[in-house]
Amino acid sequence: MGRPFDTLLVANRGEIACRIFATARRLGLKTVAVYSEADANARHVETADLAVPIGPATATESYLRGDKIIDAALACGAGAIHPGYGFLSENADFAKAVTHAGLVFVGPSASAIRNMGLKDRAKALMEAARVPVVPGYLGEDQDKNRLFDEARRIGFPVLIKAVAGGGGKGMRAVYAADDFPAALAGARAEAKAAFGNPDVLIEKLIESPRHIEVQIFGDGEKALHLFERDCSLQRRHQKVLEEAPAPGMTVEMRDAMGQAAVRAAEAVGYAGAGTVEFIVDASEGLRPDRFWFMEMNTRLQVEHPVTEEITGVDLVEWQLRVASGEPLPVAQEDLTIKGHAVEVRLYAEDPANGFLPATGPLEHLVFPEGARVDTGVRPGDEITPHYDPMIAKLTVHGADRDAAFAALNRALSRTEIAGTTTNLGFLNRLASNEDVRRGQVDTGLIARQLDQLTAVPHPLEDAWGVAVAKLLSPPEGTGFSLWAPLTRHVRLGGHVFRVSIANDIFTILADGWQRQVTKDRNAWVVDGRRTDLHSVRVAGAVAVFGPGGGTFPVDDPLNRTFASESDGDIRAPMPGLVTKLSVSKGDFVEKGQILATLEAMKMEHTLTAPMSGRIGDVLTSEAAQVAAGTTLLRIECEREVE
Ligand code: ADP
Ligand code: ADP
Ligand code: MG
Repeated sequence: MGRPFDTLLVANRGEIACRIFATARRLGLKTVAVYSEADANARHVETADLAVPIGPATATESYLRGDKIIDAALACGAGAIHPGYGFLSENADFAKAVTHAGLVFVGPSASAIRNMGLKDRAKALMEAARVPVVPGYLGEDQDKNRLFDEARRIGFPVLIKAVAGGGGKGMRAVYAADDFPAALAGARAEAKAAFGNPDVLIEKLIESPRHIEVQIFGDGEKALHLFERDCSLQRRHQKVLEEAPAPGMTVEMRDAMGQAAVRAAEAVGYAGAGTVEFIVDASEGLRPDRFWFMEMNTRLQVEHPVTEEITGVDLVEWQLRVASGEPLPVAQEDLTIKGHAVEVRLYAEDPANGFLPATGPLEHLVFPEGARVDTGVRPGDEITPHYDPMIAKLTVHGADRDAAFAALNRALSRTEIAGTTTNLGFLNRLASNEDVRRGQVDTGLIARQLDQLTAVPHPLEDAWGVAVAKLLSPPEGTGFSLWAPLTRHVRLGGHVFRVSIANDIFTILADGWQRQVTKDRNAWVVDGRRTDLHSVRVAGAVAVFGPGGGTFPVDDPLNRTFASESDGDIRAPMPGLVTKLSVSKGDFVEKGQILATLEAMKMEHTLTAPMSGRIGDVLTSEAAQVAAGTTLLRIECEREVE
């Protein structure tokens, strides 16, 4: 059939832009990318047939500039715009402007987006559609005494939520009445800063809940569902690992949730892909009377691949077909669940260090076989501070849940990344966690077991030995060999190793242990045993992949970058935005006192005084964008005068 468009522009970047282009190409569409200055050489730009620059790195000046994006579409002859997720995907004004320009918006109508955009309005609509909603107060009156009264009426614990919220922001759990006023003020300030709207609603806090969401698809009138995803494994209300189907799901519960989600979609005349998120009290198992509507996301969801894996449906293909005016491709009865799928979000971040977002070049990047990899980066690309530091999504499929998790561990162990810190080790531990493996998941699991999940692994001696041998080995392919006996000392990861090399065998000694390391064809052999370890040299370090592996920094005695922890210079631990400066020059501060707040990606980090003293120079200001390592201010130590 003739399509209303033959060229598609994707108003997004990264993995989701690449993923949408892949389906568009398969359907024979021409593809157009848009990009900011920071993304001129990005993978999504390379994959598209045409690419249009739309402005500086800052999203508000590029990826959030709907006007420039629509102009780009018109200039390239693109007949449709797919918004991806994040950025403009849930912006009703943008959807309307696209349609007004005579283009097709690949998504629901502006009114459906608007109706679902604010949590209070969405909840009111859902109640009318007989969809169970979390008991609470929708906040018609925002007077603080009224809100406090409502919280008491609902009964503690309660959850304060920004009505315009997203990404877990503007949310505060309150367990006791005394804490309510401060929590309310905090939530309102955060909501105002993040969404320009301080209004909140109050909900009963469900303790140890599960987050189970339903993928729906509508044609503007009728809707169907593609079963559920369990996204209970979260950190600070943000999803980390998602799976489908939900562990322990019963036929009865799935029907009840699926039907409620379809009612929700039909109530707003939903067209395209959407997700209805429910909170579930699973303290007594999954029961059809214990789930409640939380919100609806009117777009393709980050974790849509798990649904694609268990249903065999390409959701982007469906989106493009429905946007072209075709009917829903199948009926509810035609859909079935095959096996089990799990996805993890692989991030450049440092779990051992409060999950600080990391940046840097992906000097070495190898994705595993046997997993679906959705990524927007290639080896050598850089993770920049401008956008979400996601490296890839890894999705595996298995005949059942156990098989899927085993495949996940295998895939994670075979993923090799060096040049930036990642959450790989954390994800691997999460995937092998006993409660997770038993399906005993809830939204508090990660926080409760954080120490165990983020502990820095005790490096196994084999990995150290391989790192040392790699450091001293001649570069591969040079034909050089170390035949003549030689003794060297190397400093690696804070240890000193004495190494004798003869006949290509490294005999390594340190603090009472000894290892003999050599290479046999491509495998490292330690004390006569072949290992699964791989290693690469990267700037300033040796990376070892496999059991006990890690990135081992090569210590350079002249490198003083980290030498001045206590010199009183307060540096930015990561790139970010200074959202608050709590001190000024001349102030006296106690050790531990809050100095400033820095925001990076979706997180806020508080910088505290490492020692008592007087504030000297203040070298930054509120709203300043700073690079990692920038000195923000100085504390001068007060010397006692005798
Ligand atoms: P989900 O993760 O369920 O798809 P979210 O609302 O958490 O839904 O976010 C979807 C995506 O939108 C995120 O992965 C992120 O890229 C982007 N996003 C959402 N909220 C924010 C925010 N406050 N700041 C930056 N990016 C955000
Ligand atoms: P956002 O728009 O930020 O995604 P949601 O309303 O979807 O906001 O909530 C995000 C997360 O917060 C949920 O996935 C869940 O973990 C938690 N949460 C939300 N509502 C409740 C509640 N009433 N009780 C307990 N936890 C909740
Ligand atoms: Mg949500």
